Amino acid sequence: MVGAGLSGAVIGRKLAEAGHSVIVVDERAHIAGNCFTERDQDTGVLVHVYGPHIFHTDDEEVWTYVNQFERFLPYVNRVKTTSRGQVYLLPINLHTINQFFGKTLRPDEARSFIASLSDASIDEPRTFEEQALKFVGRDLYEAFFKGYTVKQWGCDPNDLPASILKRLPVRFNYDDNYFFHRFQGMPENGYTKMVEKILEHDRIEVRLNQKFNRSDSSSYDHVFYSGPLDGYFDYELGRLGYRTLDFEKFYSDGDFQGCAVMNYGDLSVPYTRITEHKHFSPWESHEKSVCYREFSRSCEEGDIPYYPIRLTEEKELLTRYVERARKESGVTFVGRLGTYRYLDMDVTIREAFDTAKLFLEATSSGSEMRPFAVEP
Ligand code: UDP
Repeated sequence: MVGAGLSGAVIGRKLAEAGHSVIVVDERAHIAGNCFTERDQDTGVLVHVYGPHIFHTDDEEVWTYVNQFERFLPYVNRVKTTSRGQVYLLPINLHTINQFFGKTLRPDEARSFIASLSDASIDEPRTFEEQALKFVGRDLYEAFFKGYTVKQWGCDPNDLPASILKRLPVRFNYDDNYFFHRFQGMPENGYTKMVEKILEHDRIEVRLNQKFNRSDSSSYDHVFYSGPLDGYFDYELGRLGYRTLDFEKFYSDGDFQGCAVMNYGDLSVPYTRITEHKHFSPWESHEKSVCYREFSRSCEEGDIPYYPIRLTEEKELLTRYVERARKESGVTFVGRLGTYRYLDMDVTIREAFDTAKLFLEATSSGSEMRPFAVEP
């Protein structure tokens, strides 16, 4: 397994349980990839070092699986946003609509009101902006989505796919739960502990601070590669575009903002959000607080890739890397970086299950495992 994040850990564990010997290498000094959590030394708060990770899923098998390794305690993501000097609730819900327009609408009234604002000329929204205009109309779009999205993605929302906005619901009731899923929570002792337990198996060996070289592949029966797809080929064809994040850490006494995630919709505020990590573990109590201002920018050489951009240009390059990868044997590309997709944790784990299953079926029938278990 190249990479000790969720894909490497879960596939590794499934293979070890089936009798394979597994070596997990990671070039970082720690396991758990970007969902790595650790205690902040000054406050004792459990921090999500690479930005907030909230576990939510409809996949019962995935939920049962993660709970086997770490107890998940109740956490409901309730995001706020500051726009033009006021604080609103996200996702856009009846409270947001009534506050924004100074009204007291009931659900059906709000539905017709928003329908009257929506751009009816857009049939099939192709871009983020069209999706938003059709969804909520121009005023809400400009207050909550436009500025945030320009900061987050560094481009015009008209150049982004509609699918990014489809991650967010609009609700005509007072439910401000960010997610629709049946299961949601936070691992009591953090994701690092969870991944550590997944990797705890007699047939799994973890080697940290170890860079993987393609030339090492021949020493293994098969390689599962969860690093960047373009990185595997030494960026020969160019770099796939990512957004990276810079975090500005600061401390506060008591409670800084009263919630875990406060977004900033205005373009004049340079960061996208402030996260206050003690609120991610509401069952703990800490006197002091640690927060992070989150800034998004283009990912350059040496930066940590976070969000795959997947615009037309990147998609063309992706196709060329995928063609090249399909010619490789003895390696399977997995996870967010290996398949260059914006993946939630639960989907990553589900795909890891399916990948392990395919591999075990292939080995038992004597056929070769494919370079991609899931199409990038
Ligand atoms: N978004 C926005 N305003 C917000 C929150 C999100 O415009 O206040 C848009 C933005 O383009 C973002 C996308 O919706 O990239 C998905 O948001 P999500 O909260 O799922 O992003 P994540 O937590 O994965 O960064």
